[in-house]
Amino acid sequence: MSQTPENEIIMKGINASPGICIGKAYLVDKEGVDIVEKYDIKKKKVPAEIKRFKAAVKKAKDELRAIIDDSPKELQNAHILETHMALLKDKSLYGRTIKTIEKDRVNAEWALKTVVSYLLSIFQKMTDSYLKERASDIVHVSDLILRNLVGAMTENIAAIDKRVILVARDLSAADTSQINLERIKGFITDRGGKASHTGIIARALEIPAVVGLENAITQIKSEDLIIVDGNTGIVIIHPTEQTLIEYEERKNQYQEYKADITRESHVEATTADGFHLEVMANIELPEEVVSVRNYGGDGIGLYRTEFQYMNRTEFPSEEELFDRYKDVVEVMNPSPVTIRTLDINGDKALTNNYHRQEVNPVLGLRAIRYCLKKPDLFKTQLRAILRAAAFGNVRIMFPMISAYFEIRLAKRMLDEAAESLEKNGLPFNRNIDVGIMIEVPSAVITADLMAEEVDFFSIGTNDLIQYALAIDRGNKQVAHLYQPLDPAILRMLKHVADVAKEKGIKVFMCGEMAGTPHHIPIVLGMGMDELSMNPQSIPVAKRVIRSINLKDTQALLEQALKQTTAKNVFELVRDRYGEILADHTYSGNFKLNQ
Ligand code: PEP
Ligand code: MG
Repeated sequence: MSQTPENEIIMKGINASPGICIGKAYLVDKEGVDIVEKYDIKKKKVPAEIKRFKAAVKKAKDELRAIIDDSPKELQNAHILETHMALLKDKSLYGRTIKTIEKDRVNAEWALKTVVSYLLSIFQKMTDSYLKERASDIVHVSDLILRNLVGAMTENIAAIDKRVILVARDLSAADTSQINLERIKGFITDRGGKASHTGIIARALEIPAVVGLENAITQIKSEDLIIVDGNTGIVIIHPTEQTLIEYEERKNQYQEYKADITRESHVEATTADGFHLEVMANIELPEEVVSVRNYGGDGIGLYRTEFQYMNRTEFPSEEELFDRYKDVVEVMNPSPVTIRTLDINGDKALTNNYHRQEVNPVLGLRAIRYCLKKPDLFKTQLRAILRAAAFGNVRIMFPMISAYFEIRLAKRMLDEAAESLEKNGLPFNRNIDVGIMIEVPSAVITADLMAEEVDFFSIGTNDLIQYALAIDRGNKQVAHLYQPLDPAILRMLKHVADVAKEKGIKVFMCGEMAGTPHHIPIVLGMGMDELSMNPQSIPVAKRVIRSINLKDTQALLEQALKQTTAKNVFELVRDRYGEILADHTYSGNFKLNQ
């Protein structure tokens, strides 16, 4: 049906991943089950509330039965589903929830949440790891019931079988990593910021994405025709014929630009005055090594290993981890592969997560803190990394270090992992570089202490900006304040780079700032030894580096460090490098966050 200009709706969000897609909308409602409100139930309404709970359980049973019946017999985790089925009627969960509704006279959702928290606290105290694992079953089962109680759709993104554009209130990093590239052309969400992990995965998958739209979900219906422009953050609903023609043209232009820039991706990144910089890739999934090679990455500067732990109920085994790491290491050999140990929680929750009740997950049991609390889980990963290191050039990196003792503990566990491999007679390599992410302000301030313990620093600007400026990296409301060029950030980066030089260790940057064309002159002036970014940003970054002069960037940085606002710094960069950067507006969004 052709649309009139009056029907056309234009929305503006945050450009999270470049590219343009045009297609039918598919609404996903992943909303709801984590946010449960408490309300009182009048005595005479209690039986009705119990009935509502029983109906939700019955529906969950039917859903589960259908899944079990549809699964092939040999499906290895079928027994898990049977366990879930039994749990649905288990006295401790089912009976206790009904009792709580009766006794406390509260709504069924609240009663269920209370019971689940109680059960999880008991499971956590258990020493038997098999029983401990069963805690995740309780979480799954209660989610199934809760979804029915709150009426949320259970949406399996991996199962969507049409060529569509996803429209959601929010997508988690785990949801996004399930996207099937043959089907999903792109996605848009009402929540989220550019540096959220959802945006990072969209860029890794190379699909257009716009986030932070605020009310797309209420404006768009499934099957509506929409245009998503991930370069500008514009979304158009019910486009007219004229708009469609215009965007088809823009889409072609963008593809031509990408092809042009990719053609020279293998040319080295050496500045006009002869300074060579390694440009590395950030990857989330082992399959991405192909793009790293295609886009001319000099190695892998950040391998985010957490995605292998998501969307599943059991943690991966050492063998499984080893196989995946070894694949990546062998393909990249002799180029380095920087494997970062598990950075879970924050905005990347595990299915197997007992800590989802944290009030401030980003300040909670995330990354190294989580691993140090779970020595078995951590050692399994450390052993897998050391084993893979026998097959190529591996570096290991610990995320979210905020205190010196964490490095000491992590290194001790690395040594213990090596000793256990020695005992088992398995080949491994302990002689690898050990580094840390610098992404918490306390690590910046104590960088001189930390430097004594490690071979390199890798600055994670995504989190450093979040923690230093107190800006939730995934919150649309404060996205305009998320400024990499803020004077506080520039001073921190300069300090870390100077300390590294003084202490004779290497300093890298692997946050999104490293791959943003108009930040590159500043970053270069700091004296980074390597930059690491999503693979598709590599060709552009290399071209920008080739067109500038190191001496010039150092002079620019000197001026930048005297500025009082991010806007002033931005203007300095624009005045000096505007012409070069103007060619890359697609990739760099050459403007201040606003
Ligand atoms: C960072 O924080 O800058 C970083 C690279 O790590 P992640 O985005 O995975 O938190
Ligand atoms: Mg980080």
